[in-house]
Amino acid sequence: MADIRSILVVGAGTMGNGIAHVAAQYGYEVTLADVSSEQLDRALATIRTNLERQAKKGAIAENDIPDILGRIVTTTDAASAAAKADFAIEAASENFDVKRSVFRTLDEHAPSHCILATNTSSISITTIAATTSRADRVIGMHFFNPVPVMKLCEIVRGQATSDETFAATFALAQALGKTPVTVQDYPGFVSNRILMPMINEAVYCLMEGVASAEDIDTVMKLGMNHPMGPLQLADFIGLDVCLAIMEVLHEGLGDDKYRPCPLLRRMVAAGYLGRKTGRGFYTYQ
Ligand code: NAD
Repeated sequence: MADIRSILVVGAGTMGNGIAHVAAQYGYEVTLADVSSEQLDRALATIRTNLERQAKKGAIAENDIPDILGRIVTTTDAASAAAKADFAIEAASENFDVKRSVFRTLDEHAPSHCILATNTSSISITTIAATTSRADRVIGMHFFNPVPVMKLCEIVRGQATSDETFAATFALAQALGKTPVTVQDYPGFVSNRILMPMINEAVYCLMEGVASAEDIDTVMKLGMNHPMGPLQLADFIGLDVCLAIMEVLHEGLGDDKYRPCPLLRRMVAAGYLGRKTGRGFYTYQ
């Protein structure tokens, strides 16, 4: 497996800017690509702010910030950037058609040694891999938000992922300061397979009047030592995202224990999506 020096991150949203930040922080040359140049500008501004915050906390040296930022270039031309990449991480919108088009471009333009990873939360790695001519070099690399802070990375093996691809990706996650875990390609992987049914069950408790939203969250915070209650966490993630993942689990595993709670559906239909719309299980200014 060739040395990894140059990393291409496709998608400069919440996750893409975090992945680019961490890759540059750990010494890689990073190209951050997006279809929107405004989004690229926003991503660079966010990375700068987050680096400054890390420096204030003493996690990195203030003097290192210019070098870290100097290792990141941005582009709206993912195809040209792919031609120079040793490793590509796709963090574009969670939509299969978008991912298919990104992977088609990467597959066409990236050198043959380049591994194509996806940060998808819920789309099958095997299905994405099958849209390329290098399914053995496609893998899931599921980071968590905020990427510079969260230690976990689920390394998700698709049906055709080779041992070499897996080993190189696992080693890269470690080189980025993460703790990788090995996961097979099943709906929701491990993280969302366990987290989302818990959130869904909390919504059932609320719908059935078992307790108030505040009391449900207090039970999980004080009784289970969770840093955030499940309803507060759902608001943070976005109720539309929670519903979409429950639907993936329900359909992919074919078991009614994963049926999305009707109250969750109703909240999404009403546009109460959590923090991002100012209203979910709680209201936000
Ligand atoms: P986001 O909406 O913040 O960002 C997505 C970005 O992709 C946008 O900037 C958009 O302009 C860009 N984009 C869309 N189509 C593109 C294309 N064809 N080429 C290049 N860029 C394109 O989304 P996000 O929250 O950063 O999520 C990105 C991925 O990470 C998704 O697959 C999501 O499921 C996954 N993920 C998200 C989280 C989270 O907490 N937000 C956590 C883990 C994984």
